[in-house]
Amino acid sequence: MSDVAHYAVRDGIAVITMNNPPVNGLGNALRAELMASLRKAEGDPTVKGAVIIGSAKAFSGGADIREFGKPREKPDLFEVNDQQDAMTKPLVAAIGGFALGGGLELALGCHYRVAAPRSQLGLPEVKLGILPGSGGTQRLPRIIPMADAVRMMTTGNTIPAEKAKDLGLVDEIVVGDLLEGAIKFLQQDRSIRRIRDMKAKLNGDPEAFFAQVRDKVAKESRGYPAPLEIVACAAAAATLPFDEGRKVERERFQRLVNTVESKALRHMFFAERQTSKIPDVPEDTPVRPVNKAAVIGAGTMGGGIAMCFANAGIPVALVDTTQEALDKGIQRIKGNYAATVEKGRLTQDDMDKRMALISPKADLKEIKGADLVVEAVFERMDVKQDLFRKLDALMQPGAILATNTSTLDVDEIAAATKRPADVVGTHFFSPANVMRLLEVVRGRNTAKDVLATTMKLGKTLKKLPVVSGVCDGFIGNRMLEKYVQQSLFLLEEGATPAQVDSALQRWGMAMGPFAMYDMAGNDIGWEIRKRRAKERPDMVYAKVADLICEKGWFGQKAGRGWYRYEKGSRKPIPDEEVERILSDYRKEIGVKPRKIADDEIIERCIFALANEGARILEEGIALRASDIDMVYLTGYGFPPYRGGPMFYADQVGLDKVLASIRRFQDGYQGSQWTVAPLLARLAKEGKRFNS
Ligand code: NAD
Repeated sequence: MSDVAHYAVRDGIAVITMNNPPVNGLGNALRAELMASLRKAEGDPTVKGAVIIGSAKAFSGGADIREFGKPREKPDLFEVNDQQDAMTKPLVAAIGGFALGGGLELALGCHYRVAAPRSQLGLPEVKLGILPGSGGTQRLPRIIPMADAVRMMTTGNTIPAEKAKDLGLVDEIVVGDLLEGAIKFLQQDRSIRRIRDMKAKLNGDPEAFFAQVRDKVAKESRGYPAPLEIVACAAAAATLPFDEGRKVERERFQRLVNTVESKALRHMFFAERQTSKIPDVPEDTPVRPVNKAAVIGAGTMGGGIAMCFANAGIPVALVDTTQEALDKGIQRIKGNYAATVEKGRLTQDDMDKRMALISPKADLKEIKGADLVVEAVFERMDVKQDLFRKLDALMQPGAILATNTSTLDVDEIAAATKRPADVVGTHFFSPANVMRLLEVVRGRNTAKDVLATTMKLGKTLKKLPVVSGVCDGFIGNRMLEKYVQQSLFLLEEGATPAQVDSALQRWGMAMGPFAMYDMAGNDIGWEIRKRRAKERPDMVYAKVADLICEKGWFGQKAGRGWYRYEKGSRKPIPDEEVERILSDYRKEIGVKPRKIADDEIIERCIFALANEGARILEEGIALRASDIDMVYLTGYGFPPYRGGPMFYADQVGLDKVLASIRRFQDGYQGSQWTVAPLLARLAKEGKRFNS
């Protein structure tokens, strides 16, 4: 036998142990071994029944998705299921850890299922834009109530073993040795109980039930095709014989696997796993312990960052210059937690525990013993350098000094210390306790173990850490500047904020750019533009944004910005006065307004991102195109079904993207478009950013 599965007979029971780490992915070799083992058990007259078991961590994580889109070797899981159905000896799945996707389908092919406490069961295929394609949609509603089956499959959420037992998916919870329990279970004269022979568990009229379910799922699925296809398969399970239902499932699966949505979601799945791989920092690089942290600056960001540490159970000192600023910061944290308690998503007890982990300190000296400090003070080089000089003198050797700067040069900050190797950037996104993205900025001198520690810490804080090199704006904001620039040029040419926003929102962005500026505060961009005007006087920027700022229309916080806001409301209302300002400005600069199509709005804004992304990639600021995609997917509301700006450009075709940019070069402010050499080269070679 090969090493991906093991076969043995114990007390007349065949024990088939899957051994394909890390998650017992059902790849070609493992499926072949399962098939052979089942046949062997069937053919051995001394065997009375069989157990399929995995490891304590994973029964099976399901199909090996690296094999998607590639020719599959036989037998496929379908045939393994058929062999399970053909068995004349009782078959039990012994589930430890998790049984997901194809893993749960394998378990559903067994006559019985026993599970360890705390194991998890689920069919998460929908999260990859597909559906359970090996009979899952047909078997699950035959063993648990239809409404629960539909919920499990359309949300992709897992359920714990105890819930699975209540629903009938699991027959027994085994406390203690799982294999022993499974063997004992089988020795109690179990009959053959094939799920395929059962009727779907649905009382009442299927037509009325599914009409209602379709309505609900259509609302929740926001344009993704998979959830509704799953409902169609579940309806087939209720109304058609098993084999007919399986055909429906197969057909719909094939259709989904080829959709752009599914390709994008699968790209995202792999992209996420790539982010932690840093070519010159091996995965076994020793990390420094982070048992005690400190955050300096109890403002918007510092408060949120302190919450991240407390949420992860790491004690954190929060420092500010005055007692008043500290009190305000702590009050804001308390308010945030209290709102979560109010919503029922946190218990009062947990809130108290988290608050107890955050200790306000008015004196910097009190953080001396911290293993890591995150600085989140004002965005000024002199203030940051002064603080880092103090930290250098104060902190114990080996402590990591991190800065949350969003635009300043991390190397220049590090240069204020005698230990630049211990300095790193941790660029959190606002609100820091909510947003998943964390850009980990690797300075020129950042030590490898400091980088490895910060990446690991990011995961501990439940973030998605992505490495960025040092440059103005790092990956995300540097690209955003080009997007912002195009959005403003579009206004100068004739579009309104509402038109630009609705075009991009319909395309899939979580929020249109102008609603986003109003939310973030228009004064932030204004400050940056003023700084840039000094640093790069030759730079062209759309002055139209200044006109709004000069009026003090800083956005939501001012009750007015690119839109109007009614008191207490965040709903943007198009503002005629803004339109008049725009129209006057066009006259002033001699631009005759033109009608701009939504497609052009999308191309200009999104290709501006991809073009700058290409530059970032070739400069080595980002390690790979998929990292750039993850930055946009987790930090900027980019729609997952578009896969990120680089993936989207790949899908459009880089030759087409290039042709559009060349066209824009002849248009309004065309000199602002310079083609990234990498884009030009890849387009010429017929290649992609994401290979
Ligand atoms: P903020 O003005 O809300 O808070 C800054 C806090 O730092 C204030 O409470 C201030 O009293 C305190 N402070 C100033 N100097 C200090 C010192 N020497 N020692 C101790 N405390 C000091 O600012 P913020 O929005 O939280 O931004 C903080 C940092 O995070 C900046 O570098 C900013 O660029 C960056 N950042 C901000 C955002 C955002 O959306 N606000 C996002 C990412 C990064």
